[in-house]
Amino acid sequence: MPEFRTRALVLRTFDYGESDRLVHLYTEALGRVSALAKGARRSRRRFPGTLETFTILDTHIVEPPRASLLRLEGARLERPFEGLVNDLGRYAIACQLVEVLDRLTGEHETNPELFQFAIGVLDVLAAEVPDRLLALLVLTKTLAHLGYRPQLLHCGVCGSVIGRSGGQVGFAPRHGGAVCRVCCGAEEARVPAGLLRAVEEGIRTPLRERGRLALSVPEVRRAELLFERFFRFHIGVELKSTAFLRNTLGFEPVDADPTREDAAPPRTGGVGGEPQTDRRV
Ligand SMILES: [Zn+2]
Repeated sequence: MPEFRTRALVLRTFDYGESDRLVHLYTEALGRVSALAKGARRSRRRFPGTLETFTILDTHIVEPPRASLLRLEGARLERPFEGLVNDLGRYAIACQLVEVLDRLTGEHETNPELFQFAIGVLDVLAAEVPDRLLALLVLTKTLAHLGYRPQLLHCGVCGSVIGRSGGQVGFAPRHGGAVCRVCCGAEEARVPAGLLRAVEEGIRTPLRERGRLALSVPEVRRAELLFERFFRFHIGVELKSTAFLRNTLGFEPVDADPTREDAAPPRTGGVGGEPQTDRRV
């Protein structure tokens, strides 16, 4: 019977049958998996304090023959991150992270860097005062790990460097992000090139140093709308945690005018953005 020992982040848990719990885990060695914790409902001593969302575990997982589900044989608590549930803003951003990992990663698709990144985000959340820029950068960086990274420094049509001299450029999700003034169609959204460069720097900057981006509240809001359109076009999934996040951190209602691009069907693959050069949190 194959056995695995790996660190894991608890994403969600569900009651299963009369005495078990089904646990969604993002693991370091196996990627996202679902595993059955037998007896977890009947006896709290079996998995004491471990099967809570956001906890980091040292797990022992087995793959029983002919069974469709993995089994969580044992779990030792490594990091509880219990403070996240006591602050609504931190909790909302952590919920967004966990939802992306639970819904947008492939089962058994190993990505140890994404696992390390997720722990790093929880570390930052446990220590930082949450704000809307932090929420935006956590989402943007997480999705960049999954291959959804907008092109912000080069035109998605001709490849030229955009906005060297500042001014407005286009932003078109169907072209992968920024579009230069020559290639920009009349229907594309216009955006200051400096804002795109600042967000690109934000994706490359450690979360704790986001203050040096010096983005104003209207600029952050503008960036949120652009990225919402981008992710809606390329992923086609509305995150359930978004509304809670906006209410908690005072996000403005988003202009939901559908555009031709936003009506595109969901895609399963990533988009061709720039290769990541910075894997830090
Ligand atoms: Zn161009």
